[in-house]
Amino acid sequence: MTAQLIDGIALSKQLRSEVAQRAAALTARGRQPGLAVVLVGDNPASQVYVRNKVKACEESGIRSVMEKYDATLSEADLLARITALNTDPTIHGILVQLPLPAHIDAQKVIEAISPDKDVDGFHVASAGALMTGLPGFWPCTPHGCIKMLEHIDYDLKGKHAVVIGRSNIVGKPMALMLLGKNATVTVCHSATKDLKAQTLQADVIVAAVGKAKMLTADMVKPGAVVIDVGMNRDEQGKLCGDVDFERVKDVASWITPVPGGVGPMTITMLLVNTLEAAQRAVG
Ligand code: NDP
Repeated sequence: MTAQLIDGIALSKQLRSEVAQRAAALTARGRQPGLAVVLVGDNPASQVYVRNKVKACEESGIRSVMEKYDATLSEADLLARITALNTDPTIHGILVQLPLPAHIDAQKVIEAISPDKDVDGFHVASAGALMTGLPGFWPCTPHGCIKMLEHIDYDLKGKHAVVIGRSNIVGKPMALMLLGKNATVTVCHSATKDLKAQTLQADVIVAAVGKAKMLTADMVKPGAVVIDVGMNRDEQGKLCGDVDFERVKDVASWITPVPGGVGPMTITMLLVNTLEAAQRAVG
């Protein structure tokens, strides 16, 4: 058996073209969606991420404002910038690229963003909204995973989903979203005793660990759906996920590749959230 691919590039293209259409309609009414991207310091990976986000905005007709600051920017000055962006009517989404320099309290900065503009979904109010089922912005990466499952018409009701990883930005919100879709959810982490015993029970596995190819074929029930969030480098320095793709694809029914899977969907969901924020602001 060879799994079918869930193509994050193709799905992103489709979703981004819908975003572009809706953005154009808002722009025609004089309300172009706007995203502020704040980068502090010169972390090379952050620079690449930010560039990709700005480019994706441009391609979808979302205005992006890039604010780049020296690593020496004080926490107080950054907080003042966030306050200004919160009240700027042309800005609908605010994204502060993480990590921030060590002298800045990242959580404090995130909490300073208005929940109405929290398109990354990291604010505690957004996390609370997800947990309680209230409207709010969902973190982009797990939201992208849900979109991929919806795209293949996978009915999660009553299915057993195993999430590996419990970070605030991927694992935990992923588990809540799956629960919201009526799956029975198990969350595994570094203290889980017998990971394989858990994953072998799963109809759906979401791997969000950060360890190259750690989910091996013997850990996957035949026919399971496997979503790979991981972004790692293998021994040859090639980008790879947390899933041993070449072998797991012979066991799974559906699988996401790395690259070309969850990665592009993350940026796509940022565009979707920004558009949604703009639409809510217009009323
Ligand atoms: P974190 O490092 O914050 O979390 C990793 C999680 O994996 C932790 O909960 C940790 O457990 C758990 N873990 C570590 N080792 C094991 C193990 N041996 N068995 C089971 N669980 C384990 O990472 P993130 O959630 O931020 O990211 C996860 C991966 O996803 C990374 O590769 C990252 O690069 C990638 N990523 C990809 C994105 C994309 O757009 N494609 C976006 C965001 C992340 P514990 O809590 O006990 O420490």
